[in-house]
Amino acid sequence: MDTPDPWPDNPLPILPAAHRLGVVESTTRNAQVFQNASCNWRCWYCFVPFDLLAANEAKTAWLTTDRMISLYRAETTPPLVIDCSGGQPDLIPEWIPWMMDSLTREGLHTTTYLWSDDNLSNDYFWRHLDPDQRRTVTAYRNYGRVGCFKGFNARSFAFNTRAEPTLFTRQFELFARLLATGIDLYAYATFTAPDDTNLDRDMTDFVDRLQEVHPTLPLRTIPLRIEAFGVVRPRLHPEHRHALEIQDQAIRAWNHEIERRFDAPTRALAMPDAPPKA
Ligand code: SF4
Repeated sequence: MDTPDPWPDNPLPILPAAHRLGVVESTTRNAQVFQNASCNWRCWYCFVPFDLLAANEAKTAWLTTDRMISLYRAETTPPLVIDCSGGQPDLIPEWIPWMMDSLTREGLHTTTYLWSDDNLSNDYFWRHLDPDQRRTVTAYRNYGRVGCFKGFNARSFAFNTRAEPTLFTRQFELFARLLATGIDLYAYATFTAPDDTNLDRDMTDFVDRLQEVHPTLPLRTIPLRIEAFGVVRPRLHPEHRHALEIQDQAIRAWNHEIERRFDAPTRALAMPDAPPKA
């Protein structure tokens, strides 16, 4: 959960998992991560090598969800948290209800916590799942999901993802639709940007837009500090190094907005109650 000051702690998915599982909260937790090896975006800071985002069959495998769960069970100490990550998991939206079906068949649905990531880029949840599959997802108790906002304005969004700037707005629309389903939903945000023109004003607008989705959504939104490590380093050009510096200005603007809009008791209520810390 730890992050460098002044970045807020990242409690996802540790706190929601502890809450649903009724286990003691800790600041670290192991998870079994399965990755969909494809993504429709190419964020320069992605920690996944790009050839593992390209649905490259030479480097991946087709697995059924039953097979994934049997591999998970074969671990010496299977973690309580199972993370469906990516890439973009929702390029195959059936993955999540199928995981839930497999976990339920194995009697693991109450003793594990399922988490999935979402880059808020598509509507496949509605377009390709039937009503029964959508109900499976929304009724599954031990499930949480995080949608990641890739920037605080259209310019930073396009710079980060290499996608169309207009898709920045679509992230809010998709998040609102997901929230309306009743899924236990959280958000990440990344603040790397090509320049700091109007940064304070744009951050104000960004938090306004989050509050238009839900008044307390900013308190369920965790800004993620982008780090230059591993596969990210060789991708860095001067504009990316500059963007890494700008995110440290942006987090101050974010913190200012949060403190201005929410008092300390309200901020403390943002995440689900969890059993006491160990
Ligand atoms: S959306 Fe996520 S998985 Fe896709 S490139 Fe960006 S960081 Fe990587």
